[in-house]
Amino acid sequence: MILFISACLMGVSCRYDGGAKTLPCLAQLMARYQVIPVCPEILGGLPTPRPPAERQGRRVLCKDGADVTQAYLHGAQETLKLARLYGCSCAVLKERSPSCGFGQIYDGTFSGRLVPGGGTAAELLAQNGVRVLGESSVETLL
Ligand code: SF4
Repeated sequence: MILFISACLMGVSCRYDGGAKTLPCLAQLMARYQVIPVCPEILGGLPTPRPPAERQGRRVLCKDGADVTQAYLHGAQETLKLARLYGCSCAVLKERSPSCGFGQIYDGTFSGRLVPGGGTAAELLAQNGVRVLGESSVETLL
């Protein structure tokens, strides 16, 4: 099985703050699956580092109010394009991100509160038949 994985979970420093969140079980995952890193926000044309952003309904806004929705939607489309190209049926994505989060995301107030929902890329992948897991569920693949 080919797995898509949020690039920041593979140690790539592509997060908004220039950091990464390497998965402790990355080596085990890579021993078992063909793993393809993807960062929807970079694919959407955003720089690193970049201002933090959260979803507010269908829009994605930075803390200063800048509307980055188009970049997020573009990144989601490019992510789906790659998923189709590779025949990727499963993705392990960074939880709570406005792109990669799935099931729960921040509520758009930059207060740390979570609400049910998904990031733009995770949502689009799921709508197109890709099984999306957050990093806290990755053990189910091992
Ligand atoms: Fe990680 Fe996804 Fe954010 Fe890129 S968009 S930094 S892969 S959580």
